[in-house]
Amino acid sequence: MGELDGKVALITGAASGIGKAIAMAFHAAGARVVVADLDGDAAEMVAGEIDGGNGTALGLAMDVTEEGAVNQGFDEVASRWGAVDILVSNAGIQVIAPLVDFQYAEWKRLLAIHLDGAFLTSRAAMRQMIASGKGGSILMMGSAHSHVASKFKAPYVTAKHGLLGLARTIAKEGAAHGIRANVLCPGFVRTPLVEKQIPEQATTLGITQEDVIRDVLLRDTVDGEFTTLEDIARVALFMAAFPSNALTGQSLLASHGWVMD
Ligand code: NAD
Repeated sequence: MGELDGKVALITGAASGIGKAIAMAFHAAGARVVVADLDGDAAEMVAGEIDGGNGTALGLAMDVTEEGAVNQGFDEVASRWGAVDILVSNAGIQVIAPLVDFQYAEWKRLLAIHLDGAFLTSRAAMRQMIASGKGGSILMMGSAHSHVASKFKAPYVTAKHGLLGLARTIAKEGAAHGIRANVLCPGFVRTPLVEKQIPEQATTLGITQEDVIRDVLLRDTVDGEFTTLEDIARVALFMAAFPSNALTGQSLLASHGWVMD
């Protein structure tokens, strides 16, 4: 028996990095998984990688900032497998620049993906969870930056803090319907999102990439180590599968002690 046997889990941004690792772990725990991503081709490839073509993983093109696309994607899942039991709102990007140089369009793009995306997907998931009468579990991908700030990441830090408010509100509104909402807050994990920012930070700060890793990204960890995809997938499974409201409206840090809160 897997911990998620019989469950349907939709993970956004699951064609890469953390979302992909979570989709793989949830599938291994018995769930049918929806790999939703802006990149529909990559989503389908990852779904095939996960289920070997046996029909227990579904790749779905979904731009989480588009209301119509989100609702249509959830409808498609419901007509195939029934209501979603677990949502992982994970899609995200990073843009790095000093605040005084930040382009307004980039600020809005980042907030739309992280915050509008979390709202639209949570709303669609909650509607299904309420209609099914089964409730469910919503997990937001926060960050250590849900709790602390770093230079040059103004919209990212703002958005990740904002997710705490959204999850806490869903926890309160969802309780009557058996819906829990929590935030997982990783430290740095070596995904494409992080690989891209290492040279960018080196340029912005005028230091080497090795210095960025040691003196910026991992400086405040207890051991100078990156958090791994496996670490985050394991914590995500624990949080998504947790069976009671003892764990709702919470954020859990997995950051090698970078942030202790
Ligand atoms: P990644 O770049 O590997 O994956 C992000 C995925 O999101 C990509 O597949 C991309 O196509 C998708 N995406 C982007 N915009 C989208 C949109 N509008 N609609 C749907 N999908 C979209 O990044 P990752 O590191 O795996 O990041 C995943 C999440 O984890 C993000 O929310 C990120 O902020 C968070 N996070 C990452 C780290 C880290 O160190 N990597 C740490 C803390 C939090």
